[in-house]
Amino acid sequence: MNFHILTLFPEMIMSGLMESITGRAVEKGLISINAVNIRDFAGNKYGHVDDYTYGGGAGMLMQAEPVYKAYKHVADNITNPRVLYMTPQGKRFDQKMAEELSKEKNLILLCGHYEGIDERVLDMIVTDHVSIGDFVLTGGELPAMVIADAVSRLVPGVLGSDESAVYESFYDGLLEYPQYTRPEEFMGVKVPEVLLSGHHKNIEKWRHEQALLRTKERRPDLYEKYMEEHGNK
Ligand code: SAM
Repeated sequence: MNFHILTLFPEMIMSGLMESITGRAVEKGLISINAVNIRDFAGNKYGHVDDYTYGGGAGMLMQAEPVYKAYKHVADNITNPRVLYMTPQGKRFDQKMAEELSKEKNLILLCGHYEGIDERVLDMIVTDHVSIGDFVLTGGELPAMVIADAVSRLVPGVLGSDESAVYESFYDGLLEYPQYTRPEEFMGVKVPEVLLSGHHKNIEKWRHEQALLRTKERRPDLYEKYMEEHGNK
């Protein structure tokens, strides 16, 4: 899985993703992160890539040409890549989308800045408009890192054990059950008895009940959906 991230701040991307699990996945060759500096494709010696918007209004807009050239630089060497534009106007990113994207071999993530990017180049190159939530950030770098992180951990081998992704929140439409580690007692609070019993069936049953309770309490919307699909199983 290769992530090609078109950005004005490649160091921000690399410093965020070259740490911890994603960093190790790069070292192991399971994923690659290619941060491409759009400024390298500015058509002037000052490295300017933005300008005022036609029609007036506050703020600057990233110009079409450097974005197009940065895209071509990457896309010319890949067949039919999906190009995701990070934008608050896009489809909301979620675990289902992460799973779908994890099946791709190459993803181009395009990060806007300032007021965004000239619409003409977006119309020409973007296949998916993706948002990480209903709020406005200063740039697409954090959304691109969020997406690269969530997608990477679904790539086989990236997590220590493939099991880890299977029992997590959202995997089966529920939030994950509560978890505990040593010591058995912390400030007078004990680990639930059933988890110490070694009885796998009972543990599984308890975890499922806890996942249902937690989802009902914290995410009634997900709970409703789950119940519609699964009944009272
Ligand atoms: N003028 C744009 C609008 O109203 O839709 C917002 C531009 S925002 C200040 C600058 C850049 O940050 C965007 O081009 C986009 O790449 C990124 N961005 C901001 N919020 C985002 C979000 N919720 N999800 C994904 N990308 C976002």
